[in-house]
Amino acid sequence: MTSASRPIVVRARWIACGPERVLEGASLVVRAGRVERVLGRRARVAGAREVDCGDALLAAGMVNAHAHLELGALAGLTPRGPDFAAWVRTVIALRARASRSELAAAARAGATRALSTGTTCVLDIDTTGAASQALARHAIRSVVLREVLDAHDPTRTLAALARVRRPLRSSGRRREGLSPHAPFTVSPALLAGAAKLARERELPVQMHWSETAAEVQWMESGAGPLAALLGESPRRSALDLLEHVGLLGPRISLVHGNLPSRGEARRLAQRGVTLVHCPGSHAWFERQRWDWRGYARAGVSVALGTDSLASNEDLDLRREMRLASAAQRWLAPEDLWRAVTVAGAAAAGASTQLGRLESGFSADFLVLPVVAHSARSALEELCLGTAPVSEVWVEGQRVAGR
Ligand SMILES: [Zn+2]
Repeated sequence: MTSASRPIVVRARWIACGPERVLEGASLVVRAGRVERVLGRRARVAGAREVDCGDALLAAGMVNAHAHLELGALAGLTPRGPDFAAWVRTVIALRARASRSELAAAARAGATRALSTGTTCVLDIDTTGAASQALARHAIRSVVLREVLDAHDPTRTLAALARVRRPLRSSGRRREGLSPHAPFTVSPALLAGAAKLARERELPVQMHWSETAAEVQWMESGAGPLAALLGESPRRSALDLLEHVGLLGPRISLVHGNLPSRGEARRLAQRGVTLVHCPGSHAWFERQRWDWRGYARAGVSVALGTDSLASNEDLDLRREMRLASAAQRWLAPEDLWRAVTVAGAAAAGASTQLGRLESGFSADFLVLPVVAHSARSALEELCLGTAPVSEVWVEGQRVAGR
């Protein structure tokens, strides 16, 4: 039997197969990088290599649904607080000064930090090409969302599209996606072109949406502080534009959603759009309480992201869950765990491969030592505790810890 086909049986006191299913005393049978079966703790599999994690919880590797890893090169250099325009100016100036190798090194370091804290897949916005290069050879899975924008300047539209027309070669665990930056920085023509590419190549798409009052005002009326910086406003809501180009559906995830208009939450839910919230970044800009409850009542699937180290202190999704919980006491551990696994996997276009430990899913998981007396307390420790993850596996191989 070759080592690739030789099964591995990983045993642990607790296995979280998904947000609503935590088993006591179970084994994962892993073969060729996938979960073949979930069995009882004492199950035997002929010829298998045995790994006993003891008093620990095994849970699916988390999916960071929004990051800009290359901006780790700017950590500690950007302003904190509500002046978003000042923050954007600083980021643009500092990023222009950073070398490609500095940006790539930051992306690599960020990916390693994310992986060591239990994130096995990251949806990363790639603005300069540096992160894509860094992630091609990293153990973490990634969806490199190549950014396009033209600032509503028609002379930039074709060049923006040309940049992403050639597919990114799939490499290692890196996959390709597309990110029209935001409705106020992407013209309707560029959005239509990006939608066509995404459809043809079946790519996941991600877009920033409804982050500030200024962008919402300019989109809908052409007025406000952005009027002097941008060309002609489309005078339509972002969701109307996305609907018009055929992008308002499960293929797209929208990031932020700080200021939804009436009825927009329901519209996202009806179309199967994933909404990404970044609690650490939200706190960085001192934004008002995010309306998770309103989105949840409307039936919107919410994923969590870290955003970047230019507006956050860490790339650890367990910290994001703790921050979300502190701001939204009503959230149950199951809600938080769904956000960092199942919802993130949907945003990655990988709902049947990532985010759960069930037959057929990738054997991507974390190991957390826990002293728990119930499935509930094991899940609480995972979502709200601070004890570090001891091991991380991707595709049936240990890639961090021990
Ligand atoms: Zn972002």
